[in-house]
Amino acid sequence: MKFSRKDFVKGIGIGTLTLPIWLRSFLGENWAQEPLNGPETRISEKKYQWKMVTTWPPNFPVLGEACTYFANIVREMSGGRIEIKVYGGGELVPALEVFDTVRSGGAEMGCGASYYWAGKSPATQFFTSVPFGMNAQQMHSWLIWGGGMELWEEIYADFNLVPMIGGNTGMQMGGWFNREIKSMDDLKGLKMRLPGLGGKVLEKAGGTPVLLAGGEIYTGLERGVIDATEWLGPYHDYLAGFQQIAKYYYTPGWHEPGSVLEFTVNKTLYDSLPNDLKAILKAAAAQATNWCFAGMETKNAEQLAIMKQEGVAIRSFPKEVLDQLRIYSEEVLEELASSDARSRKVYDSFKKFKALINPYSGITEKLFFESIE
Ligand code: CA
Repeated sequence: MKFSRKDFVKGIGIGTLTLPIWLRSFLGENWAQEPLNGPETRISEKKYQWKMVTTWPPNFPVLGEACTYFANIVREMSGGRIEIKVYGGGELVPALEVFDTVRSGGAEMGCGASYYWAGKSPATQFFTSVPFGMNAQQMHSWLIWGGGMELWEEIYADFNLVPMIGGNTGMQMGGWFNREIKSMDDLKGLKMRLPGLGGKVLEKAGGTPVLLAGGEIYTGLERGVIDATEWLGPYHDYLAGFQQIAKYYYTPGWHEPGSVLEFTVNKTLYDSLPNDLKAILKAAAAQATNWCFAGMETKNAEQLAIMKQEGVAIRSFPKEVLDQLRIYSEEVLEELASSDARSRKVYDSFKKFKALINPYSGITEKLFFESIE
């Protein structure tokens, strides 16, 4: 939607009772972006009892809580027409079976992160986070206004799933180490729990990525199976107790600068819903996303203050290390895009949006944060 300065000035000159033409068409176009081609019934009496399977451990703080928060909003907004029972990973199906369970209708909804499904389609990784990608607000901008969501929907439609943004972890931390990282040499031979594309970057740096599930990290680190690990941010990492067994807590989480989480709905079911329930699911997902991201930021900030009081050694990766890791990351993303047509298509859109938004973030957020240091 493009509107001229003349339209804009005319618009703001008119009283609030009548919406100006440009604003009406502006709102109209946005509301109409995704036609909800369902039955026209506005209020049907049909009641739904759904299951939501998630990749999070049962009652997982913030991320798992956001699922219950979502279910509560949906129940309230729909006047009880949709009741959703949330299951932690392993309660109904194992965490990594969420995708297949929802697409096949074994559960109506799922929650997790799209990069867990790289084995189904490698391009899904771009919808969560990639090394040296975009932060949370940039990711949400790409997805909602920059065409990312359409690409995500297109890929998931082939798996009979409808994706929605389901939260964001915010910028993650770089991880826990038992030796200081002063140069790239310190990454050589390092065995680190660093899944996905981040692990591929570590490999280029001469390290060894090790796959460990969340529950195995602590003992792995304690027993020397791994030398280092990343997980989430201060809040969850502290609850996991990593500060007891690792010396240094590094920042930033270059490998996951703002991981987008997802809600998924079985597409056959979604398509059969009346329009008001479709709109309720989308509105509730947007609200739960806001709640989750704000929660992560707040809890992580509170925990960081506690960690500092307790003397946890917090270190930043040297610029030289980050510069080299960024070069390796670009190589890894290029290799991924070259190996898979869909990843190429998504990466092109991702890269184009990143090139658009970084100069803007650079003269706003970056300068602002530098000024308050
Ligand atoms: Ca992580």
